[in-house]
Amino acid sequence: MGKNSDCVVMDVQIKASNAEHNSFDVIVLGVGSMGSATCFHLARRGLKVLGLEQFSIPHDQGSHAGQSRIIRKAYFEHPDYVPLLERAYQNWQDLEKLTDTPLYHETGLLYYGPPEDDMMQGVKLSARTYDVPLEVLNQDPNQNKFPQISVPDHYEGLLEPGAGFLPPERAILLYTDQAIKHGAVIKTQEKVLSWEKNPGGGVTVISDKGTYHAAKLVITAGPWAGHFIPQLKPKLQVTRQVLAWVIPKNPQPFELGQLPCWMIVDEVNPGILYGFPIMPVGQFNGPIGFKAGYHVPGQVSDPDRIDREVSQEEEQKIIDALLRFFPESYQSTHVLKTCLYTYTPDENFVIDFLPGFDQDVVIAAGFSGHGFKFASVVGEILADLSAKGATALPIGFLNTSRFF
Ligand SMILES: Cc1cc2nc3c(=O)[nH]c(=O)nc-3n(C[C@H](O)[C@H](O)[C@H](O)COP(=O)(O)OP(=O)(O)OC[C@H]3O[C@@H](n4cnc5c(N)ncnc54)[C@H](O)[C@@H]3O)c2cc1C
Repeated sequence: MGKNSDCVVMDVQIKASNAEHNSFDVIVLGVGSMGSATCFHLARRGLKVLGLEQFSIPHDQGSHAGQSRIIRKAYFEHPDYVPLLERAYQNWQDLEKLTDTPLYHETGLLYYGPPEDDMMQGVKLSARTYDVPLEVLNQDPNQNKFPQISVPDHYEGLLEPGAGFLPPERAILLYTDQAIKHGAVIKTQEKVLSWEKNPGGGVTVISDKGTYHAAKLVITAGPWAGHFIPQLKPKLQVTRQVLAWVIPKNPQPFELGQLPCWMIVDEVNPGILYGFPIMPVGQFNGPIGFKAGYHVPGQVSDPDRIDREVSQEEEQKIIDALLRFFPESYQSTHVLKTCLYTYTPDENFVIDFLPGFDQDVVIAAGFSGHGFKFASVVGEILADLSAKGATALPIGFLNTSRFF
């Protein structure tokens, strides 16, 4: 009898310690671009944080792989993003200082297109509204600063000197590392299966390896967000985007230091062709080459069943466009990859409390192919919303009431 009752006491203690072990202030579902930054911002505030990631950190199955992401302030999508970008730039700088690692590389960004095109009009509107420095490029062939580029005569050229790129995989690693250093528990190779709100408040999250409880849940599941936010699923469209790294005949004029990042309106194929100078491999890892892709909705796809093979037709479309705008840029294709966008109907993000859950669930989804540069500020906003119930940062235009 005595022995049995000892066992019971011990069992209760184990359950109690498991419960404590599995209870958190905030659970972050998905530790990619937005989730890693959120784990950091929460852990730095002293909260008990659990980050759950189905793959490794980082990985190439979602939206954040591929060496580089453009960051810019003359925001053609909408001027309302510019104040958030001011904060994003500051927060990236804070992470650089904290980790003594360069992340933001100021290459400048070239924009080319017909002056009346939406992208060119949007760039000029945001620059005017928020005094973002912008240079008008002289199209006279004798004074052309960038002879690598050839655009139609009716195109206008603009340079945003204060734009550049970020290395996404490194940034995610640094945010995750810093989150762990500040006490966050980060579990990889652990897939969240479901979550539910507890009748008495808070949430329970069930993964393929355990059950966890928290006062708040932040959903940053990228292309998988629709699985966990059924109300939003009909408004989220996941698309498969193709990227190419090519080797030019003479790489030197296309290398970092010789050429800014660039975005060119294409009148032959719909969309914006964009790309980056060739990165020194010792500094940025692979792939090697001149990177380009189209910013336009790709094939609508299920994130769990992506066709990772790039067809010859898809490859040729990028090569043809490169040859039109950069006649000397192509000798051979080095690497082809796919990556996922998650579009909302208006191509603006969704950052808000999930309606109907008493501010216990915060969502950040639908980054529509332009979200990475904001990860540093989105992490801060999601930490504000989950820890304080409000943020001073201007996110009203990203609310859920647009859709439900
Ligand atoms: C080709 C390409 C080019 C781009 N270029 C730019 C650019 O130049 N500038 C820019 O600002 N943005 C750019 N973007 C967009 C930007 O990369 C995305 O908006 C951003 O990465 C989205 O971040 P996220 O956190 O929503 O998604 P992710 O970074 O994909 O993170 C979501 C995470 O949630 C995890 N997850 C999902 N479900 C589960 C589950 N059940 N259990 C556990 N974990 C789960 C995923 O595995 C993933 O790690 C580009 C995107 C692509 C694809």
